[in-house]
Amino acid sequence: MTIRSLSKLTRAYVTALSLIALLTLATFITMYLSILTQRDSALLVNLSGSQRWLSQKAALLSVELVYIADSTERDRTRKQLRSIIDQVKTNHLALVKGNPNLTASHNLSPQMQEVYFSPPINMNSQINQYLSEALALADEPEHLLNSDNPHLAYLLHNSENLLESLDQIVSMYQRESEAKVQHLRMVEISSGLTILLTLVFLGLYIFRPLANTLFRERSQLEKANQELSLLSSVDGLTGIANRRHFNQFFEQLWLQATYTREPIALILCDIDFFKAYNDTYGHLQGDECLKKVAASLKSSLKRQGDFVARYGGEEFIAVLSNTDVEGALKIAETLRVNVEGLEIPHLLSSITPKVTISLGVAIGYADPAKQPETLIEAADNALYQAKQGGRNRYKLADLSG
Ligand code: GH3
Ligand code: MG
Ligand code: MG
Repeated sequence: MTIRSLSKLTRAYVTALSLIALLTLATFITMYLSILTQRDSALLVNLSGSQRWLSQKAALLSVELVYIADSTERDRTRKQLRSIIDQVKTNHLALVKGNPNLTASHNLSPQMQEVYFSPPINMNSQINQYLSEALALADEPEHLLNSDNPHLAYLLHNSENLLESLDQIVSMYQRESEAKVQHLRMVEISSGLTILLTLVFLGLYIFRPLANTLFRERSQLEKANQELSLLSSVDGLTGIANRRHFNQFFEQLWLQATYTREPIALILCDIDFFKAYNDTYGHLQGDECLKKVAASLKSSLKRQGDFVARYGGEEFIAVLSNTDVEGALKIAETLRVNVEGLEIPHLLSSITPKVTISLGVAIGYADPAKQPETLIEAADNALYQAKQGGRNRYKLADLSG
C-alpha cells in the first residue's frame, strides 16, 4: 500500500470518526435540553394551577374570618390567611421573575407579558391589589370585622374575576408548554434525519471508497505476489527448485549436450498413494511430508551438476548430466531407498505402511532434431509402468522406439 493511499485512508477514518462524535454530542445536547424544558414547563403549569386554588382558599378564609364568633378561632384563621397570602405572593414572583427551581432562565413570552402587565387583564396589579385587600382584612381590628367590611366586599366582588384570569393564565402556560414540546419534537425529528443522512453520506463517500481502496490494494498485492512467485525460481513449499527453474535448466543442458554429445538422465519421482495420505493425515501433514521427501531427494544427489526440482503436486524430477544407464539406475534406487528410509507412517498405503515413491528413468542423447520434452515423456511413461508394476520401484524407459 502506498504512503499516499495510506494517508488518504487515515484522513477518511478521522473524518468519519469526527462526524460520528459530533452527531453523538449534538444528539446528547438536544435530549438534555428537551428533558430540562419539559421539566420546567410542567413546573410552571403546576405553579399557575396552584395559584388558582390558593386564591379560592384566601376568599374562603376571609369570609370565615368575618363570621367566626370565637376569638381564638379567629386568630387562627388570621394566621392561615396571612400564610396563604405569602404563598400566593411567592408563587406570583416566581411566575413573573423566575425561580431557583427552574433550570432554564425563565423569561415571560410577549403574550404572557401582556396578560401580566397590560390592560384589560393586568394580572400583576390585579393580584397585588387582591393580596393587599386580603392582608388588610387579616390585619383589621376585631370591631371592624363584619359583613360590611369594605375589604371583604372587594375580595368577594373580585374573586370571580381573579379566578377567571388565573384560569386564562393556566391555559396559556399549558399552550406554551405544548408548543415547546412540539418544537422539541421537531428538533428531535430533524436531528434524527440529520443522523440518518450523515450515515448515508459516511457509507457513500467514506466507507464505500474505503472498502474499494482496500479491495483494490489487496488485488494489486495479490497480483504482485503472483508475478513475484512466477519470477522466482524456488518452490514456495519445499524450498527446492520449481518447475520454471527446471525448464530453464533442462533447455540449457539440452543445448549444451547437443555439442558435447554427453547423455542426460531424467528421473521422474511420484509419491505413492499420496491422495490417501492427505485424506488420512490432513493437508498440512501432507505438506510436511512433501518437504521431507524433497529434502531427502536433494540430499541424495551429491554430484556437482545434479539437479532436482518439484515438477508438480507430489512429483519431483531429477536431472543427472553425463550419466550412463547404470549410474542413473543406481541413483534412482538410492532415491527410492532414502525416501523409504524416512519412515514416514502411511497406514493406508497398500504396499508398506510408510511413504514410498515410484520412479521413471529415461536416458538419452540430446539431438537438435528432437525436442527436450521427448525425454520427459519417456520418463513419465516409465513412471507409469513403475506404478503399474506395483509402486515403490523404478522403471527404465525403453527409448528404442
Ligand atoms: P499414485 O500412487 O497413483 O501416485 O496415487 P496418488 O494418490 O499419489 O496420486 P493422485 O494423483 O491421485 O493424487 C495426488 C495427490 O497429491 C492429490 C493432491 O491432493 C496431492 N497434492 C498435490 N499437491 C499437493 C501439495 O502441495 N500439498 C499436499 N498436501 N498435497 C498435494
Ligand atoms: Mg502424481
Ligand atoms: Mg502419487
